[in-house]
Amino acid sequence: MIKGIKGVKDILPDETPRWRLVEETARRWAARYGFHEIRIPIFEVTTLFARSIGATTDIVEKEMYTFPDRDGTSLTLRPEGTAGTVRAFIEHNRAADPLAQKYFYIGPMFRHERPQAGRLRQFHQFGVEYFGTQDATADVDVIALLWRFLSDLALPDLTLEINSLGSTADRAAYLPVLRSFLQSRVEHLCDNCRRRLETNPLRVLDCKIPSCRAATEDAPQLISYLSAEAKSHFDQVLSMLTALAIPWRHNPRLVRGLDYYCLTAFEITSSHLGAQNAVGAGGRYDGLVELLGGPSTPAVGFATGLERIVMMLATDRLPASSPSVYVAAFGSAGKPAGAQVLDALRLAGVAAQSDYRVSTLKGHLRQADRAGCRFAVLLGDDEARSGSAVIRDMESKVQESISLGDLPRYFLSLIKGF
Ligand code: ATP
Ligand code: MG
Repeated sequence: MIKGIKGVKDILPDETPRWRLVEETARRWAARYGFHEIRIPIFEVTTLFARSIGATTDIVEKEMYTFPDRDGTSLTLRPEGTAGTVRAFIEHNRAADPLAQKYFYIGPMFRHERPQAGRLRQFHQFGVEYFGTQDATADVDVIALLWRFLSDLALPDLTLEINSLGSTADRAAYLPVLRSFLQSRVEHLCDNCRRRLETNPLRVLDCKIPSCRAATEDAPQLISYLSAEAKSHFDQVLSMLTALAIPWRHNPRLVRGLDYYCLTAFEITSSHLGAQNAVGAGGRYDGLVELLGGPSTPAVGFATGLERIVMMLATDRLPASSPSVYVAAFGSAGKPAGAQVLDALRLAGVAAQSDYRVSTLKGHLRQADRAGCRFAVLLGDDEARSGSAVIRDMESKVQESISLGDLPRYFLSLIKGF
């Protein structure tokens, strides 16, 4: 038997209503904030991700699905959505548009990670990218959109943590200080962090291992190295969030794994998620468009993991599906008449089904019950000959006879009342 790939999940019909609710809610909130959908490819040339995400990040170091194309070009399944969105922004000269470009995407991402609850190799993200302004209000829009979207889904115990990564120059002033602090604690750090100390010391602050956290408890904070501009940008973001009644917590250890972030960085977590507690994260990446060969364009965005959101979604939030009609047709005249009734109902906009393996009334009613159909149309040879059918309310068991031609109108008005 051929099985699916480890860490790559099927989403079965039982689960898709939850997914649809999450995706429709995401689309609704994106539209309210003026973001338009972009659909970017699932794979790109490897250098796009290597250059934009950064060589010393987890993603590029060990998580990418990379393979040679037939001509030898190295290709990679997208591990995130920002790089492709920025490439498309540049390639289609979107900076020339006088309107600020605001995009959202929903779709699968691919990372070679150790699969566990909330961590998959194919997972799904909803993300937004807001290009063209350095105004702190844009940061707030992006954070508020994420917060309102998650709150609309009534996800439990959300916390918004926020930090400022400063400008490139601010970080350049801070990094030597951090590095020498980390050197002084090196014997308490995990192997990974010892390596990061050389390649990407900021990320030591992000390590989840308790002993590393303890060793860096009193590390010097980037926030004390912010320039006046960066400090003012951060203060504006925080005071606007407060004005919008979005609760935030300053987390001076919050750094993003990706190289391209500057100024605002944020993450939303939930205590209901266990070890993989991040629901979504994002920040400002003013240098990325230029880094990838485009015109200097500030930008801010987030990405959020849909698996983790779906996991937390309470089932009572699912909208009830509209009632469906079961057509129980049997007999040599009843069956073809039933096929016509099914067609007429569907054309009228009524969900109608049957089970063609069944040939008795009793069997049909059992299937109608199993399928959760609210009504059944009973149609045997006698009914077909008289041009009528018996309608059965599957809950009250009340039955009445109706002419075949009236069925679509009858059900349409019944269903509207639900
Ligand atoms: P983590 O710390 O959980 O590894 P990350 O920093 O790698 O997260 P981002 O690249 O910021 O994650 O992606 C944004 C969101 O996408 C995460 O907050 C999470 O909800 C989700 N996500 C990331 N990786 C996975 C994965 N392998 N499986 C499921 N969801 C994921
Ligand atoms: Mg990760």
